[in-house]
Amino acid sequence: MLNRRLLLGASAALPFLPPGVAEARAPFRNTTPAAWYRFKVGDFEATVVSDGRLPLGAIQPAFPTSSPDEVSALMRDHFLPPDSATLEQNALVVNTGRHLVLFDTGMGESMGEQSKMFGPTTGKLLQNLRAAGIEPGQIDVVCATHAHCDHVWALVNRRGQRVFPNARVAISEADLRFWTDDGNKRGPEFMKVFIDGAKKNLSAYRDRMIMVRDGQEVVPGVTAFAAPGHTVGHHVYAVRSGNETLVNTGDLAHHQVLLLRKPAWEFAFDTDPKQSAQTRSRMLDRFATDRERILSYHFPWPGIGHVSREGDGYEWMPSPMNLTSVS
Ligand SMILES: [Zn+2]
Repeated sequence: MLNRRLLLGASAALPFLPPGVAEARAPFRNTTPAAWYRFKVGDFEATVVSDGRLPLGAIQPAFPTSSPDEVSALMRDHFLPPDSATLEQNALVVNTGRHLVLFDTGMGESMGEQSKMFGPTTGKLLQNLRAAGIEPGQIDVVCATHAHCDHVWALVNRRGQRVFPNARVAISEADLRFWTDDGNKRGPEFMKVFIDGAKKNLSAYRDRMIMVRDGQEVVPGVTAFAAPGHTVGHHVYAVRSGNETLVNTGDLAHHQVLLLRKPAWEFAFDTDPKQSAQTRSRMLDRFATDRERILSYHFPWPGIGHVSREGDGYEWMPSPMNLTSVS
């Protein structure tokens, strides 16, 4: 039996481990595990696949019309650093039994250095997709919520070849037109590269497009709904099987605290920030009322949960990563 006084005395006099033995035998790994998460929506098999983290840096510039003090206070109150905000990129894959559908593609590498504008942590979709046992050639449809870099730039590789050779691409005609029109290269600095990237990625699928409209079923069990504002043709997608629903909300809200607590705040990357705020408020109200399960592209991994009413806004209620839901 250990004598506590002896032990304390010994540890004061001697190093805990003798010299020469104290070095760690295992090196630091500096790697992250494959990021995919599998669950069911009714009879459908769903897999969230990460494209990696998207660091934004200081969060305040993303909310140019909001009080900097209020932004910082909300972040700190939720134990988040205001000077280094990070968004996730949660791409959903749904196997309906008849179709394999990918929702958004992440940043990819099609635009070379510009594909790394948010640093080296993005562009991980393909490796995580393969780690989840899914090959790009198996994807039947890519449903794009909108044509921004972090959602469609992995449709082609650097040489402009289709990454998903057998897929059709579902996107709204409004977004297709807007983001492939050189006439819209005005305003914020990012517009030029966003349009160049959308043109390169979408043109490779020109003869295999599905133009989605509000309320349209893309494949059986997947329905598009117009949610304009973030972009002119931003759409969300409801996945339904049996009596279960999951709504893939794309970029309806980018931050689980700031834009749920303050749905009316204007976000710098919105094409029409006021319309975006109206759409966000209307849809969040419906999701809270209907107790709808949602998947949010940029919320903390894996982005699945519910919104509940809290004051004038909402609170994010992440779903537990429940092993019993894994098939
Ligand atoms: Zn986005």
